[in-house]
Amino acid sequence: MDRHPALQLEKTEAEHHLEYERCWQKLVTAAQEERQHSESHRSFKVGCAMLAWNGKRYEIFAGSNFKPHKNDKTVCAEKEALRKIRENGFERVIAIVVVSQHSHTEPTQEDSTKTLSPCAECQQMFRDAQEIKPTTILTTINDSNMDTANQSGGIIQERTVADVIK
Ligand SMILES: [Zn+2]
Repeated sequence: MDRHPALQLEKTEAEHHLEYERCWQKLVTAAQEERQHSESHRSFKVGCAMLAWNGKRYEIFAGSNFKPHKNDKTVCAEKEALRKIRENGFERVIAIVVVSQHSHTEPTQEDSTKTLSPCAECQQMFRDAQEIKPTTILTTINDSNMDTANQSGGIIQERTVADVIK
């Protein structure tokens, strides 16, 4: 069967997924590093790393939640990561990794054992953004009790965007 040469450059979903698995550790580390600049949102410090594809290569973009000005609403880490992807002309988000850690002085059990689900605004952004597909992988991690040296002990939930925007 003859295929158009341009089509052969297209990556399949399986190839994208493989790349996500290959750079999983890098994504987690990028989100954790970015979170160091984070300001607490719902008493959680959040970092987000997205694996993006521009038709030729993959790149990781990360953001943290922050307040532009003292009295402003917090801008979500997811929004910040997507802003960078657009700035750099990437066309497709393959995976979103959100890492959160509570900043409660007296944490409930849930603070350390549940991962954060994207807020309503982020869910809307996932629906609207051309770059984000229902098949985009969405991994949420609560690493409040994670041993960052060997990445063990965190709570990890892997879903797709379709699972959270229902
Ligand atoms: Zn949000």
